[in-house]
Amino acid sequence: MANSTANSDTRTTQGRGKLYSSILDTIGDTPCVKINKLAPAHVDLYVKAEFFNPGGSVKDRLAISIIEEAERSGELKPGQTVVEATSGNTGVGLAMVCAAKGYPFVATMPTSVSIERRKLMRFLGAKVILTPKEDKAMGCYLKAVELADANGWFLARQFETDANAKIHANTTAREILSDFANSALDYWVTGYGTGGTFSGVASVLREKRPETKIVLSEPANARLIESGQPQERTADGSPASSHPAFQPHMIQGWTPDFIPKVLQKSLDASHFDQLVPIDAEEGIAASRALAQQEGIFTGISGGSSFAVALKIAADAKPGSVILCMLPDTGERYLSSPLFEGVDEEMNADEVALSLSTPGFHLGA
Ligand code: PMP
Repeated sequence: MANSTANSDTRTTQGRGKLYSSILDTIGDTPCVKINKLAPAHVDLYVKAEFFNPGGSVKDRLAISIIEEAERSGELKPGQTVVEATSGNTGVGLAMVCAAKGYPFVATMPTSVSIERRKLMRFLGAKVILTPKEDKAMGCYLKAVELADANGWFLARQFETDANAKIHANTTAREILSDFANSALDYWVTGYGTGGTFSGVASVLREKRPETKIVLSEPANARLIESGQPQERTADGSPASSHPAFQPHMIQGWTPDFIPKVLQKSLDASHFDQLVPIDAEEGIAASRALAQQEGIFTGISGGSSFAVALKIAADAKPGSVILCMLPDTGERYLSSPLFEGVDEEMNADEVALSLSTPGFHLGA
């Protein structure tokens, strides 16, 4: 039975029918939600709303996977400190998982990442070590390696670990297969940061839904994949240098200044059908449109994926079904360009509205 009714009857809910033994058990099983106004009439467009995860992003999946795989292998010892280089959401996910499981957590993060992400991690009990934004993601990563080596800490290695794509194959992809079991699925749209979401889901879709076209996106001013230029790597697969096609961009969480090992495997296996560049400004506009016309609150990367999905929708055959990933909540961007023009004070319209009735207005 559906969990809620959305027809003319009074809306009711039934509860989940079970009790949860930890916040960590609420990770995953995020809903695929239909777009009702912004999608062209000839397609069905859905978004997979990863902001329903308890830490507010898709990276909760990666965090629980890295920690539990390392617990199982014995690589992570009880009480050992966990360290990771993170653009934010992985840090929030790891801080949450480490808090729940009792591991100290240290994040290294470039100063370019939004203030609220730093504060969120500290609120969850983590230490945040900032690195100069000029040193880009590479500098942040090398700082984490340095700290791990110097202190005997467990380095989470989100860009290299098999635990990344694995959790997306075992959870994200299975959820998509289940939710679209009785529906066509013509396109699946995603961007990449580590490439974990893309690699894990694409490997399963290729096998179980080979008809689904996989659409990958990257920032228009940082087309690492499209450039065709190979990534230099060290022996363990980590990047040896910044990729020549990289330029700083505004889509936080997408496209670091190197092609991660996790992503490379799936590029080599040709696990995407189309590569669509997207301008961050278009992504920001799409995120605002999602909020204001659909009531769906996601960040810049979600807006960017959605802007790509709209381009795919425009050219898709009538009746096509499209699913687009929304990696995180828009609340993580209050101090970023996403909220530019959103004021704290009343604007002229609001002041006029306030003065239009006699009581309770500010000022004289
Ligand atoms: N969007 C945001 C906001 C993210 O934080 C991330 C992860 N860095 C992604 C998208 C990309 O996810 P993945 O690492 O699985 O490629």
